[in-house]
Amino acid sequence: MDKRRRKQFRALKKGHPIVSIGMFIAMCVALTVLVGTIASLIISYIIDSKLGAEYNDLQYMKRIYEASENKIEDGQIFELLNTEGRDYFIVSPDGQKVYENGENTALDQRYSAFLSYMTDEKSTTAEAEKVIVRFDSQRGLLSTDEEGYIQLDEWDLIMQLPDIVESSTEVGTTGTDNFLTRLFDIQPGTVAKIPLWFELPVGSAGNILCGKAFIKINMSDFAWVVTLFFALFMLVLVMFVIIFVNLLRGLVRRRNATKIFFTDISTKGKNWMWFLLRGENYLKSTFSKRDKFAVVNLSFVNYRNYCACHSLAAGDELLMKIDRWINERLNRNEICARVNGAEFALLLKFFDKRALEARVRELIDGLQNIDGEHIYHFQAGVDLVGVSRNANGKAVKRRFFDMEIAYNNACTTRETLAGTDESGMAFFDEKMVEDQRWVDMVQDNQRHAIDNEEFKVYYQPKYNPQTDELKGAEALIRWISPEYGLVPPGKIIPIFEKNGFITEIDHYMVTHVARDQKRWLDSGYKCVPVSVNISRAHFIESDLAEQIRDMVDAEGTPHELIELELTESAFFDDKKTLVETIKRLKSYGFAVSMDDFGSGYSSLNSLKDMPLDVLKLDAEFFRGENSGTRGEIVVSEAIRLAKCLDMRTVAEGVEVKEQVEFLASQGCDMIQGYYYAKPMPANEYEERMKSNESNLRRAAESVEAAEFSTLMGNSEGDTELPILGM
Ligand code: C2E
Ligand code: CA
Ligand code: CA
Repeated sequence: MDKRRRKQFRALKKGHPIVSIGMFIAMCVALTVLVGTIASLIISYIIDSKLGAEYNDLQYMKRIYEASENKIEDGQIFELLNTEGRDYFIVSPDGQKVYENGENTALDQRYSAFLSYMTDEKSTTAEAEKVIVRFDSQRGLLSTDEEGYIQLDEWDLIMQLPDIVESSTEVGTTGTDNFLTRLFDIQPGTVAKIPLWFELPVGSAGNILCGKAFIKINMSDFAWVVTLFFALFMLVLVMFVIIFVNLLRGLVRRRNATKIFFTDISTKGKNWMWFLLRGENYLKSTFSKRDKFAVVNLSFVNYRNYCACHSLAAGDELLMKIDRWINERLNRNEICARVNGAEFALLLKFFDKRALEARVRELIDGLQNIDGEHIYHFQAGVDLVGVSRNANGKAVKRRFFDMEIAYNNACTTRETLAGTDESGMAFFDEKMVEDQRWVDMVQDNQRHAIDNEEFKVYYQPKYNPQTDELKGAEALIRWISPEYGLVPPGKIIPIFEKNGFITEIDHYMVTHVARDQKRWLDSGYKCVPVSVNISRAHFIESDLAEQIRDMVDAEGTPHELIELELTESAFFDDKKTLVETIKRLKSYGFAVSMDDFGSGYSSLNSLKDMPLDVLKLDAEFFRGENSGTRGEIVVSEAIRLAKCLDMRTVAEGVEVKEQVEFLASQGCDMIQGYYYAKPMPANEYEERMKSNESNLRRAAESVEAAEFSTLMGNSEGDTELPILGM
């Protein structure tokens, strides 16, 4: 498959729904995390800053205590501290209460908890560096009488607020009394007071100052955060919706594009592109598996006729039916698609070749009666994937499997049935591989062969059946290959016609025939016109007549010694150009003949417009069923028609005496066939020319003798005389 198509396909694949949905989910998660993080950061900041303010106050008390220590009496120190108006108490390192201020019913509880903390193994000096924060169980957010107490590293106080919250639930007895959940329980617009106890080491004696603090949170402070959070949330939600809708639309559009890309215009089923990609990917991926596969080219014979008799729409409808019918009969991992015209590609699974054969036969039989009204004909070419070959005829592993090659093999195989309109099937085999190899070899060698003059001109004489006189010849190519010996034209001309090399061959033949004729002329032979085949592909060249004229002139050969044969099928091409070319060829003095008349579609009509000189009756007239009375009528009428149109006739492929006699009786001008001679090399043809001359001489002598005897009054000279002229 070409690169452009593969690229387009990859682009389509990129938009696979799974990828899009995955991306969408990832975005949702990312945005939710972002919004959540921003909101919690803002809330943390507010709470932390309030907590920090309280903590700073206690730090201030600590500084007062430490500044006054040992300078004034303890009582005076406490008085100073009392002026701060904060509930607090001080305990000594051995857990003795030193002082307390303010009213607090829960003091004992906290105190005992504190004492247990102090006597804990972990509460070493290192722990004394920490700031202890306790939630007030009586009035605070913690509804039960639990003791939530939290340690904070002094310097991380603000940053670690979430830890405070977490720890409170850890230590809490219910575990559900989460600081934040409580916080959000508070009604908006009210002011919440969250009581806490901070514990700070104070003084040189290692006393602990436990100060009561309140975090006052005005819920209106939170209102804007909540509003912001909500706005952000809505924004994100709207974005999600927009993205989601767009994503959905994109998916639908992509699905539609993919559908169009892979939908066949006539059957509305899958198309060749889909088959190619799906089949190739599938076969490559199942490389190691045991399953064997077959690529089938299934062709509806005479589809064009069906369309002509009904309509194109009816044709499409039938194709649609066929496509559906086949698809309904496919097993898992088997695929089918219309390729073009009325041709379908199938990928079938099989285990046994005979079972596959039966299956394909079943498909063909079923399709023959698909609408229960008419009988349709289908032909199938099958290539077994296991024996696929590359262009060089080598077996290809599925890893390197090329669906186009396999399908091409299937098509080539199916084309071997194309001679008949009947249903049938054929398998791609070694013979076809051989054929392909041969084609490659010919193509590789054609240039070298022509440069090396390996192509030889063979001449097949044409005789006048009444006189057995040599009246002409046809030049036929042979390839004398150093490696393959004598190669007949049937093995090379179709290849050259396909690859365009035929125009060079035609030039080569015209030049060589003209050269031979000139040489024979110069050597004193009585030359007869030699016809050269001009390929149909050549006729698209508008200056063909001039090219031929120049080639013949280059050899110095008289134009009347060269005749040009155009095959009958060429008359269906561009008629105008053809008529022009024929006229110009004739104006230069070349004779032009219609080759293979009667072999293909009727070219009677062409005869009307083409100013041709010679009509060559195709060899088919003289084969098998065509012979007999009816055949004779056709031949004699064809000869009569040619005469009426002032054309000479040449009968080709005549092998038996009776045919020669019949043709002679009908006034056929020349016979080219094995009865007289097979195509022969130039030197043998020279011999024919020589013997023809001696025959002619003998004939002339007998004419002279007859005339003499007539003069002498001899009435026995009624020997049939050869007709020399035409
Ligand atoms: P064609 O032009 O119809 O040539 C006549 C073919 O019939 C020749 O086959 C000839 O050998 C064969 N033939 C003649 N008489 C008989 C007979 O009595 N019995 C049988 N069985 N066959 C007979 P050939 O030489 O194999 O050529 C085959 C075709 O190849 C030619 O058919 C022509 O279409 C093509 N071809 C041959 N040489 C050239 C060429 O130089 N240029 C082009 N363009 N085509 C050529
Ligand atoms: Ca011919
Ligand atoms: Ca012919």
